[in-house]
Amino acid sequence: MIPNEFDYYAPATLDEALRLLGERAGEAKVLAGGHSLIPLMKLRLAAPAALIDLRNLRELRGISESGGAVRIGAATTHAEIAGSDLVRSRAPALAQAAAEIGDRQVRARGTIGGSLAHADPAADFPAPMLALDAEIVVKSLRGERRIAAAEFFRGLLETALEPDEIITDVRVSAAPRSAYAKFPNPASHYAIAGVAVALAGDGAVSAARVAVTGAAPAAFRAEAAEAALTGKALGAETIAAAARAAYDGRELLGDIHASAGYRAHLISVMTRRALEKLTA
Ligand SMILES: Cc1cc2nc3c(=O)[nH]c(=O)nc-3n(C[C@H](O)[C@H](O)[C@H](O)COP(=O)(O)OP(=O)(O)OC[C@H]3O[C@@H](n4cnc5c(N)ncnc54)[C@H](O)[C@@H]3O)c2cc1C
Repeated sequence: MIPNEFDYYAPATLDEALRLLGERAGEAKVLAGGHSLIPLMKLRLAAPAALIDLRNLRELRGISESGGAVRIGAATTHAEIAGSDLVRSRAPALAQAAAEIGDRQVRARGTIGGSLAHADPAADFPAPMLALDAEIVVKSLRGERRIAAAEFFRGLLETALEPDEIITDVRVSAAPRSAYAKFPNPASHYAIAGVAVALAGDGAVSAARVAVTGAAPAAFRAEAAEAALTGKALGAETIAAAARAAYDGRELLGDIHASAGYRAHLISVMTRRALEKLTA
């Protein structure tokens, strides 16, 4: 399929990209890895009048650590995140999620900023974003905003991002005791259900965050599972209790890939598998 005609820009700086997007807000889209936007354009489900390609913006790439947070530039690819020693040691749930996205080609082109902005309900990153208490940094000509992950994901393909804003980077809290497990769609590898867990404390769990993606229109925290973990040693009994509590009775997606009931079951199984990674 052939997309509609569009103007193409490849600005050299973020300021130039923001100016172009500001001038054409509502009719232009930024282009990152193109793995979600280009298929939508080819199917004519999206028809932006202009594309602003982020490919030359080196300032949007890279991974660093400061003050207990890991900062990831929005145009950093899934493969770079999966292969980063810093992310693997400081935020393993995020590295594990990145490593399981799609296939090698998707991971080589797709970016964290593109994935977050697209907000596919079956995307992997929303779960580690919630579990690692991420902040999404966005800029426009109007200035900078920092949006907590809990506020960012609003629903099916819907986020708190305004049409003139570009995600510049993502900051996740360091959580060495974190993990991600998913049940993938065997064809695309999108999550049918994926669970990220992040635990504080060296022995007994002093605080827990458990987040689910793939199962509902937007990712959510499994607070009953968090309560089942808090204050406990991470043994088989605690893990079983958290897994049982992870599905809280909310309405889930049911589609050709999996019924709502099967997704409820998978939330429990993926919670157990993610927690078991932390006992290995
Ligand atoms: C075959 C296949 C399998 C896949 N499997 C998985 C999977 O298993 N798990 C998973 O999570 N994902 C999967 N994906 C999606 C993949 O991760 C995409 O890369 C991702 O969803 C979009 O990232 P992108 O960089 O390609 O963004 P693009 O396609 O370029 O852009 C997507 C959207 O985000 C906007 N955007 C991009 N960057 C920014 C920015 N910095 N600021 C503001 N807006 C921005 C664009 O305007 C557009 O609306 C798969 C995709 C394909 C094609």
